[in-house]
Amino acid sequence: DPGAVAGDFFHVEDLLDDAENAVLQRIRTFLAEEVAPHADELWEKGESPVHLAPRIAELGITGLPEDETGTAARSALLNGIVGMEMSAVDPSFATFFGVHSGLSMGSIRVCGSQEQRRRWLPAMTRWEKVGAFGLTEPLVGSGTAGGLTTTARRDGEGWVLDGEKKWIGNGTFADLVVVWARDVADDSVKGFVVEKGQAGFSASVLEGKISLRGVQNAHLVLDGVRVEEGNRLQGANSFRDTAQVLKVTRGGVAWSATGCAVGAYRAARGYAVQREQFGKPIASFQLVQDKLSTMLGNITAAQAMCVRMAQLTEAGRLTDAQAALAKMFCTSRMRETVALAREVLGGNGILLEHGVARFFADAEALYSYEGTRDMNSLITGRAATGISAFV
Ligand code: FAD
Repeated sequence: DPGAVAGDFFHVEDLLDDAENAVLQRIRTFLAEEVAPHADELWEKGESPVHLAPRIAELGITGLPEDETGTAARSALLNGIVGMEMSAVDPSFATFFGVHSGLSMGSIRVCGSQEQRRRWLPAMTRWEKVGAFGLTEPLVGSGTAGGLTTTARRDGEGWVLDGEKKWIGNGTFADLVVVWARDVADDSVKGFVVEKGQAGFSASVLEGKISLRGVQNAHLVLDGVRVEEGNRLQGANSFRDTAQVLKVTRGGVAWSATGCAVGAYRAARGYAVQREQFGKPIASFQLVQDKLSTMLGNITAAQAMCVRMAQLTEAGRLTDAQAALAKMFCTSRMRETVALAREVLGGNGILLEHGVARFFADAEALYSYEGTRDMNSLITGRAATGISAFV
């Protein structure tokens, strides 16, 4: 069954129309030619695929579908399936893309004024300017909603930013970093676009990661960084506005996690039909088939949830809690799936060259970023009970 081989057992791709399917095939070709051959090498070196920026721009898939930047309108479903496919080839590449296209551009689209969108989004759509998103801090991760320690202080016509940010994807080379800070005047959360080279701003690479090594994460220091009022995102007045951005990107991580599981499944299935033990392909053993079926079930359930999420997004009805549940569910099922895939390969499962180890390692970051499993569970629990268990 070709659907079962590809990890699309219930034919989710059939929901795309012909034009959308053509976009997907173009992206598949790009991923096969430009991303897959270098993914292991970049992962080992700990380097981001920045050199691909001009080629990614040509694909016409950057930014949220609603951007007024000349990008052809895309459905939430196509966006999701594209994200899933990117991750099925390389979760680091999908993250590199998603930080720029979703978190950074999404912040400007959702929280920027019309003028700010026009100022930054077109160049970002063309990847002439690469974006990052700085919310997490060394001492504040899950608790960013009420606990940001990076401060913004009004000073004459502009603002002064002080603090540190940790884990900032693309932060070492980004031209623009959306920095979230607490206004000392009233404790409200505000967003600022900090442009590269500003005095007092520095970024260093976080070394020693064992997951998503093909995307660089930065430790940022903001030491009296001055930004103009025009660089303050005009629609970001509280963490609720930040949460609007995260709702969209969390949904994106649900798709990515599903893709990570698909990538591991494809490699494990391919291996199982080739590898022989006891004179037979290991795929002929019932216990191995059970693992493949469990993986396929996980992937299919995650895809079904993501497709429904795309429909709710299109209808303007997706809630924070629905995005949180999708992120929690899909990353949990991914984690089981990549572990089973690793197991099917035996010892070869921990070698990069056999195509599963990278997904296995990368799954850990997907599981915890954009809200840990616990935090997304609690956001869902709040919707189920009306009681917040974490504030
Ligand atoms: P902590 O908040 O310290 O949590 C530690 C543990 O405590 C977790 O298990 C958590 O679930 C649990 N916990 C915390 N609070 C509660 C509670 N109330 N109830 C129950 N359990 C709780 N951030 C950005 O801003 N920009 C980026 O580009 C970015 N990219 C990232 C890329 C990678 C590879 C990684 C790993 C992280 C990235 N992050 C980024 C940060 C990410 O969003 C945080 O790691 C995440 O929010 C968790 O925060 P933390 O790591 O500080 O963990």
